[in-house]
Amino acid sequence: MAEIVLKNINKRWGTFIGVKDFDLTIADREFLVLLGPSGCGKTTTMRMIAGLEDPTEGDILIDGKRVNDMEPKDRDIAMVFQSYGLYPNMNVYENIRFPLKVRKVPEAEHKERVMRASAMVELDEFLHRKPAALSGGQRQRVALARAIVREPNVFLMDEPLSNLDAKLRVSTRAQIKNLSHELKVTMIYVTHDQIEAMTLADRVVVMEKGIVQQVGTPTEIYDNPANTFVASFIGNPAMNLIEGEIRDGVFSAPNITVSRLSAADGKVTLGFRAEDAAMTDGDGEVSAPVYSMELLGDATMVTVRSGSSLMAIKAGKEYRSEIGAQVKASVPASICHLFDTASGARL
Ligand code: ATP
Repeated sequence: MAEIVLKNINKRWGTFIGVKDFDLTIADREFLVLLGPSGCGKTTTMRMIAGLEDPTEGDILIDGKRVNDMEPKDRDIAMVFQSYGLYPNMNVYENIRFPLKVRKVPEAEHKERVMRASAMVELDEFLHRKPAALSGGQRQRVALARAIVREPNVFLMDEPLSNLDAKLRVSTRAQIKNLSHELKVTMIYVTHDQIEAMTLADRVVVMEKGIVQQVGTPTEIYDNPANTFVASFIGNPAMNLIEGEIRDGVFSAPNITVSRLSAADGKVTLGFRAEDAAMTDGDGEVSAPVYSMELLGDATMVTVRSGSSLMAIKAGKEYRSEIGAQVKASVPASICHLFDTASGARL
Protein backbone atom coordinates (compact mmCIF):
# COMPACT_ATOMS: atom_id res chain seq x y z
CA MET A 1 0.00 0.00 0.00
CA ALA A 2 1.19 3.48 -0.76
CA GLU A 3 -1.36 6.24 -0.66
CA ILE A 4 0.24 9.66 -0.68
CA VAL A 5 -1.52 12.70 0.72
CA LEU A 6 -0.29 16.22 0.09
CA LYS A 7 -2.02 18.60 2.49
CA ASN A 8 -1.91 22.22 1.56
CA ILE A 9 1.74 22.12 0.53
CA ASN A 10 3.50 25.43 -0.05
CA LYS A 11 7.11 26.00 -0.98
CA ARG A 12 8.63 29.47 -0.87
CA TRP A 13 12.15 30.75 -1.16
CA GLY A 14 12.03 34.22 0.38
CA THR A 15 9.12 35.86 -1.40
CA PHE A 16 9.34 33.59 -4.44
CA ILE A 17 6.53 31.03 -4.60
CA GLY A 18 7.71 27.69 -6.00
CA VAL A 19 4.54 25.71 -5.18
CA LYS A 20 1.27 27.12 -3.86
CA ASP A 21 -1.55 25.38 -1.94
CA PHE A 22 -0.98 21.94 -3.42
CA ASP A 23 -3.69 19.64 -2.06
CA LEU A 24 -4.06 16.14 -3.43
CA THR A 25 -4.53 12.50 -2.48
CA ILE A 26 -2.69 10.09 -4.75
CA ALA A 27 -4.28 6.67 -4.57
CA ASP A 28 -2.36 3.46 -4.01
CA ARG A 29 -1.13 2.19 -7.41
CA GLU A 30 -2.21 5.34 -9.20
CA PHE A 31 -0.12 6.66 -12.10
CA LEU A 32 -0.08 10.40 -11.49
CA VAL A 33 1.60 12.76 -13.94
CA LEU A 34 2.68 16.29 -13.02
CA LEU A 35 2.57 18.30 -16.22
CA GLY A 36 3.52 21.87 -16.98
CA PRO A 37 6.06 24.17 -18.60
CA SER A 38 9.59 24.69 -17.33
CA GLY A 39 9.68 26.28 -13.90
CA CYS A 40 6.06 25.53 -12.94
CA GLY A 41 7.02 23.64 -9.79
CA LYS A 42 6.79 19.99 -10.89
CA THR A 43 10.26 18.95 -9.77
CA THR A 44 9.96 20.86 -6.51
CA THR A 45 6.71 19.02 -5.71
CA MET A 46 8.34 15.70 -6.43
CA ARG A 47 11.45 16.53 -4.41
CA MET A 48 9.24 17.36 -1.43
CA ILE A 49 7.56 13.95 -1.69
CA ALA A 50 10.98 12.31 -1.86
CA GLY A 51 12.20 14.29 1.14
CA LEU A 52 14.91 16.13 -0.79
CA GLU A 53 13.20 19.46 -0.16
CA ASP A 54 11.22 20.62 2.88
CA PRO A 55 7.81 22.20 2.35
CA THR A 56 7.47 25.69 3.83
CA GLU A 57 3.95 24.75 4.91
CA GLY A 58 1.78 21.67 4.81
CA ASP A 59 1.98 17.96 5.53
CA ILE A 60 3.00 14.97 3.45
CA LEU A 61 1.50 11.64 4.46
CA ILE A 62 2.41 8.22 3.13
CA ASP A 63 -0.11 5.58 4.14
CA GLY A 64 -1.51 7.87 6.80
CA LYS A 65 1.88 8.57 8.37
CA ARG A 66 3.29 12.07 8.37
CA VAL A 67 6.71 11.88 6.72
CA ASN A 68 7.80 15.54 6.78
CA ASP A 69 10.61 14.73 9.19
CA MET A 70 11.52 11.36 7.73
CA GLU A 71 14.82 10.97 5.87
CA PRO A 72 14.55 10.30 2.11
CA LYS A 73 16.11 6.85 2.52
CA ASP A 74 13.42 5.82 4.99
CA ARG A 75 10.50 6.73 2.73
CA ASP A 76 10.38 3.56 0.60
CA ILE A 77 10.53 5.65 -2.55
CA ALA A 78 12.74 5.08 -5.61
CA MET A 79 13.59 7.91 -7.98
CA VAL A 80 14.59 7.91 -11.65
CA PHE A 81 15.97 11.10 -13.16
CA GLN A 82 16.62 12.28 -16.68
CA SER A 83 20.34 12.07 -16.04
CA TYR A 84 20.81 8.41 -15.34
CA GLY A 85 23.36 8.76 -12.53
CA LEU A 86 25.07 5.46 -13.29
CA TYR A 87 28.47 4.60 -11.85
CA PRO A 88 30.86 4.52 -14.82
CA ASN A 89 33.30 2.07 -13.24
CA MET A 90 30.65 -0.51 -12.40
CA ASN A 91 29.13 -2.82 -14.96
CA VAL A 92 25.38 -3.06 -15.44
CA TYR A 93 24.99 -5.87 -12.91
CA GLU A 94 26.86 -3.95 -10.23
CA ASN A 95 24.99 -0.74 -10.97
CA ILE A 96 21.65 -2.47 -10.55
CA ARG A 97 22.82 -4.25 -7.41
CA PHE A 98 24.14 -1.07 -5.78
CA PRO A 99 20.96 -0.10 -3.87
CA LEU A 100 20.81 -3.59 -2.35
CA LYS A 101 24.35 -3.22 -1.02
CA VAL A 102 23.63 0.23 0.38
CA ARG A 103 20.53 -1.06 2.12
CA LYS A 104 22.38 -4.09 3.44
CA VAL A 105 20.01 -6.56 1.81
CA PRO A 106 21.41 -10.10 2.47
CA GLU A 107 23.89 -11.11 -0.25
CA ALA A 108 22.03 -14.31 -0.93
CA GLU A 109 19.12 -12.34 -2.41
CA HIS A 110 21.15 -10.09 -4.70
CA LYS A 111 21.56 -12.24 -7.76
CA GLU A 112 17.93 -13.25 -8.04
CA ARG A 113 16.68 -9.69 -7.52
CA VAL A 114 19.12 -8.18 -10.01
CA MET A 115 18.24 -10.82 -12.59
CA ARG A 116 14.53 -10.23 -12.08
CA ALA A 117 14.86 -6.45 -12.41
CA SER A 118 17.15 -6.64 -15.43
CA ALA A 119 14.82 -9.10 -17.16
CA MET A 120 11.90 -6.69 -16.70
CA VAL A 121 13.70 -4.04 -18.71
CA GLU A 122 15.31 -6.51 -21.11
CA LEU A 123 18.89 -5.93 -20.05
CA ASP A 124 19.89 -9.54 -19.42
CA GLU A 125 22.35 -9.53 -22.30
CA PHE A 126 24.22 -6.45 -21.14
CA LEU A 127 24.98 -7.23 -17.51
CA HIS A 128 28.74 -7.28 -17.99
CA ARG A 129 29.01 -4.04 -19.94
CA LYS A 130 30.04 -0.72 -18.47
CA PRO A 131 27.65 2.24 -18.99
CA ALA A 132 30.01 3.81 -21.57
CA ALA A 133 29.36 0.84 -23.85
CA LEU A 134 25.58 1.28 -23.73
CA SER A 135 23.19 3.37 -25.81
CA GLY A 136 21.16 6.14 -24.15
CA GLY A 137 18.07 3.95 -24.08
CA GLN A 138 19.97 1.08 -22.49
CA ARG A 139 21.42 3.39 -19.84
CA GLN A 140 17.95 4.65 -19.04
CA ARG A 141 16.82 1.06 -18.61
CA VAL A 142 19.69 0.42 -16.18
CA ALA A 143 18.46 3.42 -14.18
CA LEU A 144 14.96 1.92 -14.23
CA ALA A 145 16.21 -1.49 -13.16
CA ARG A 146 18.18 0.08 -10.32
CA ALA A 147 14.92 1.60 -9.05
CA ILE A 148 12.96 -1.62 -9.61
CA VAL A 149 15.46 -3.79 -7.73
CA ARG A 150 14.60 -2.04 -4.48
CA GLU A 151 10.98 -3.13 -4.81
CA PRO A 152 9.69 0.16 -3.43
CA ASN A 153 6.03 1.04 -3.11
CA VAL A 154 6.45 4.44 -4.73
CA PHE A 155 8.31 5.45 -7.86
CA LEU A 156 9.14 9.06 -8.64
CA MET A 157 10.26 9.74 -12.20
CA ASP A 158 11.51 13.14 -13.33
CA GLU A 159 11.49 13.46 -17.13
CA PRO A 160 13.05 10.01 -17.50
CA LEU A 161 12.63 9.99 -21.28
CA SER A 162 13.88 13.43 -22.17
CA ASN A 163 17.36 12.30 -23.23
CA LEU A 164 16.06 9.64 -25.61
CA ASP A 165 15.34 10.06 -29.30
CA ALA A 166 11.73 10.18 -30.46
CA LYS A 167 11.41 6.51 -31.34
CA LEU A 168 13.01 5.23 -28.15
CA ARG A 169 10.86 7.59 -26.15
CA VAL A 170 7.75 5.94 -27.49
CA SER A 171 8.92 2.39 -26.78
CA THR A 172 10.34 3.21 -23.34
CA ARG A 173 7.12 5.05 -22.51
CA ALA A 174 5.15 1.88 -23.20
CA GLN A 175 7.60 -0.08 -21.08
CA ILE A 176 7.19 2.29 -18.13
CA LYS A 177 3.41 2.03 -18.36
CA ASN A 178 3.62 -1.73 -18.43
CA LEU A 179 6.09 -1.82 -15.53
CA SER A 180 3.95 0.34 -13.29
CA HIS A 181 1.11 -2.07 -13.87
CA GLU A 182 3.21 -5.18 -13.21
CA LEU A 183 5.00 -3.78 -10.19
CA LYS A 184 1.71 -2.56 -8.68
CA VAL A 185 3.34 0.64 -7.44
CA THR A 186 2.23 4.22 -6.97
CA MET A 187 3.88 6.28 -9.69
CA ILE A 188 4.48 10.01 -9.75
CA TYR A 189 5.89 11.10 -13.06
CA VAL A 190 7.05 14.59 -14.02
CA THR A 191 7.01 15.80 -17.61
CA HIS A 192 6.47 18.88 -19.74
CA ASP A 193 5.36 16.67 -22.63
CA GLN A 194 1.60 16.56 -22.88
CA ILE A 195 1.62 13.43 -25.01
CA GLU A 196 3.56 11.55 -22.34
CA ALA A 197 1.07 12.79 -19.79
CA MET A 198 -1.96 11.75 -21.83
CA THR A 199 -0.62 8.29 -22.65
CA LEU A 200 0.74 7.37 -19.22
CA ALA A 201 -1.49 8.93 -16.62
CA ASP A 202 -4.47 7.72 -14.67
CA ARG A 203 -4.70 11.37 -13.59
CA VAL A 204 -2.84 14.46 -14.70
CA VAL A 205 -2.04 17.50 -12.58
CA VAL A 206 -1.51 20.53 -14.82
CA MET A 207 0.61 23.21 -13.15
CA GLU A 208 1.63 26.73 -14.03
CA LYS A 209 3.74 29.11 -11.94
CA GLY A 210 3.52 26.87 -8.89
CA ILE A 211 -0.28 26.72 -9.03
CA VAL A 212 -2.36 23.66 -9.84
CA GLN A 213 -4.56 24.55 -12.81
CA GLN A 214 -6.50 21.32 -13.11
CA VAL A 215 -6.49 17.74 -11.85
CA GLY A 216 -8.29 15.10 -13.88
CA THR A 217 -8.11 12.04 -16.07
CA PRO A 218 -6.52 12.65 -19.48
CA THR A 219 -9.99 12.58 -21.04
CA GLU A 220 -11.43 15.10 -18.58
CA ILE A 221 -8.55 17.47 -19.15
CA TYR A 222 -8.73 17.09 -22.90
CA ASP A 223 -12.51 17.37 -23.17
CA ASN A 224 -13.12 19.93 -20.44
CA PRO A 225 -10.07 22.11 -19.88
CA ALA A 226 -10.62 24.30 -16.83
CA ASN A 227 -9.08 27.37 -18.41
CA THR A 228 -7.27 28.67 -21.48
CA PHE A 229 -3.87 27.71 -20.05
CA VAL A 230 -4.86 24.03 -19.89
CA ALA A 231 -6.65 24.27 -23.25
CA SER A 232 -3.55 25.66 -24.89
CA PHE A 233 -1.22 23.16 -23.23
CA ILE A 234 -3.05 19.92 -24.04
CA GLY A 235 -3.56 18.49 -27.51
CA ASN A 236 -1.55 18.56 -30.69
CA PRO A 237 -2.27 21.03 -32.13
CA ALA A 238 -3.44 22.89 -29.05
CA MET A 239 -7.05 24.01 -28.90
CA ASN A 240 -7.81 26.99 -31.17
CA LEU A 241 -8.53 29.99 -28.96
CA ILE A 242 -10.15 33.03 -30.54
CA GLU A 243 -10.95 36.25 -28.73
CA GLY A 244 -14.20 37.86 -29.80
CA GLU A 245 -17.60 39.00 -28.64
CA ILE A 246 -20.97 37.43 -27.99
CA ARG A 247 -24.23 39.25 -28.82
CA ASP A 248 -27.56 37.43 -28.48
CA GLY A 249 -25.83 34.04 -28.48
CA VAL A 250 -23.79 34.81 -31.59
CA PHE A 251 -19.99 34.85 -31.32
CA SER A 252 -18.10 37.01 -33.79
CA ALA A 253 -14.44 37.49 -34.51
CA PRO A 254 -12.63 38.01 -37.82
CA ASN A 255 -13.52 35.21 -40.29
CA ILE A 256 -15.67 33.31 -37.78
CA THR A 257 -19.29 33.58 -36.62
CA VAL A 258 -20.83 30.92 -34.40
CA SER A 259 -24.49 31.10 -33.44
CA ARG A 260 -26.70 29.36 -30.85
CA LEU A 261 -24.20 29.72 -28.01
CA SER A 262 -25.55 30.04 -24.51
CA ALA A 263 -23.58 32.79 -22.84
CA ALA A 264 -24.15 36.35 -21.73
CA ASP A 265 -23.26 39.22 -24.06
CA GLY A 266 -19.71 40.51 -23.85
CA LYS A 267 -16.10 39.69 -24.57
CA VAL A 268 -15.31 36.00 -24.61
CA THR A 269 -12.68 33.54 -25.83
CA LEU A 270 -14.01 30.76 -28.01
CA GLY A 271 -12.14 27.47 -28.18
CA PHE A 272 -12.46 24.49 -30.49
CA ARG A 273 -10.24 21.59 -31.43
CA ALA A 274 -8.91 21.11 -34.94
CA GLU A 275 -10.30 17.58 -35.15
CA ASP A 276 -13.81 18.60 -34.07
CA ALA A 277 -14.12 21.10 -36.93
CA ALA A 278 -14.53 20.07 -40.58
CA MET A 279 -13.95 21.64 -43.96
CA THR A 280 -17.21 22.16 -45.82
CA ASP A 281 -18.47 23.18 -49.23
CA GLY A 282 -21.73 24.50 -47.76
CA ASP A 283 -22.28 27.25 -45.21
CA GLY A 284 -19.56 27.34 -42.62
CA GLU A 285 -19.05 29.28 -39.40
CA VAL A 286 -15.49 29.91 -40.63
CA SER A 287 -14.82 31.56 -43.98
CA ALA A 288 -11.20 32.53 -44.55
CA PRO A 289 -8.24 32.27 -46.89
CA VAL A 290 -5.86 29.34 -46.32
CA TYR A 291 -2.77 30.42 -44.37
CA SER A 292 -0.96 27.07 -44.49
CA MET A 293 -1.59 23.45 -45.29
CA GLU A 294 0.37 20.56 -43.79
CA LEU A 295 0.18 16.94 -44.92
CA LEU A 296 0.29 14.69 -41.86
CA GLY A 297 -0.06 11.38 -43.64
CA ASP A 298 -3.32 10.34 -42.01
CA ALA A 299 -4.85 13.84 -42.31
CA THR A 300 -4.29 17.31 -43.70
CA MET A 301 -4.00 20.23 -41.28
CA VAL A 302 -5.44 23.41 -42.73
CA THR A 303 -4.68 26.67 -40.96
CA VAL A 304 -6.60 29.90 -41.46
CA ARG A 305 -6.42 33.27 -39.76
CA SER A 306 -8.81 35.06 -37.45
CA GLY A 307 -7.22 38.47 -36.99
CA SER A 308 -3.87 37.82 -35.36
CA SER A 309 -4.88 34.31 -34.22
CA LEU A 310 -4.59 31.12 -36.21
CA MET A 311 -7.26 28.44 -36.44
CA ALA A 312 -6.23 24.87 -37.29
CA ILE A 313 -8.79 22.58 -38.88
CA LYS A 314 -8.13 18.91 -39.46
CA ALA A 315 -9.27 17.72 -42.87
CA GLY A 316 -9.20 14.27 -44.47
CA LYS A 317 -5.93 12.87 -45.83
CA GLU A 318 -7.09 13.51 -49.39
CA TYR A 319 -8.01 17.15 -48.79
CA ARG A 320 -6.07 19.65 -50.88
CA SER A 321 -6.26 23.40 -51.25
CA GLU A 322 -3.85 26.23 -51.87
CA ILE A 323 -2.45 28.99 -49.73
CA GLY A 324 -4.69 32.02 -50.19
CA ALA A 325 -7.68 30.04 -51.49
CA GLN A 326 -10.97 30.94 -49.78
CA VAL A 327 -12.27 27.99 -47.74
CA LYS A 328 -15.13 27.27 -45.34
CA ALA A 329 -15.23 25.16 -42.21
CA SER A 330 -18.02 24.07 -39.97
CA VAL A 331 -17.52 24.94 -36.30
CA PRO A 332 -20.94 24.37 -34.73
CA ALA A 333 -21.76 25.57 -31.22
CA SER A 334 -21.77 21.95 -30.03
CA ILE A 335 -17.97 21.63 -30.41
CA CYS A 336 -17.17 25.03 -28.91
CA HIS A 337 -15.76 25.84 -25.47
CA LEU A 338 -16.17 29.29 -23.95
CA PHE A 339 -13.70 30.99 -21.65
CA ASP A 340 -13.64 34.30 -19.83
CA THR A 341 -11.17 36.43 -21.77
CA ALA A 342 -9.84 38.29 -18.74
CA SER A 343 -9.30 35.38 -16.32
CA GLY A 344 -9.08 32.53 -18.83
CA ALA A 345 -11.55 30.49 -16.73
CA ARG A 346 -14.01 28.18 -18.42
CA LEU A 347 -17.52 29.65 -18.60
P1 ATP B 1 11.65 22.14 -15.26
O1 ATP B 1 10.71 21.43 -16.18
O2 ATP B 1 12.41 23.23 -15.93
O3 ATP B 1 12.51 21.22 -14.44
P2 ATP B 1 9.90 22.49 -12.98
O4 ATP B 1 8.47 22.65 -13.25
O5 ATP B 1 10.34 21.16 -12.54
O6 ATP B 1 10.73 22.96 -14.24
P3 ATP B 1 10.97 23.46 -10.52
O7 ATP B 1 12.33 22.88 -10.66
O8 ATP B 1 10.04 22.80 -9.58
O9 ATP B 1 10.29 23.59 -11.93
O10 ATP B 1 11.12 24.99 -10.10
C1 ATP B 1 10.01 25.80 -9.83
C2 ATP B 1 10.48 27.20 -9.61
O11 ATP B 1 11.18 27.30 -8.38
C3 ATP B 1 11.43 27.71 -10.68
O12 ATP B 1 11.07 29.03 -11.02
C4 ATP B 1 12.78 27.65 -10.02
O13 ATP B 1 13.64 28.65 -10.52
C5 ATP B 1 12.45 27.90 -8.58
N1 ATP B 1 13.42 27.24 -7.67
C6 ATP B 1 13.74 25.93 -7.64
N2 ATP B 1 14.65 25.69 -6.68
C7 ATP B 1 14.93 26.87 -6.10
C8 ATP B 1 15.80 27.30 -5.02
N3 ATP B 1 16.57 26.43 -4.36
N4 ATP B 1 15.80 28.61 -4.71
C9 ATP B 1 15.01 29.48 -5.36
N5 ATP B 1 14.17 29.16 -6.35
C10 ATP B 1 14.14 27.88 -6.73
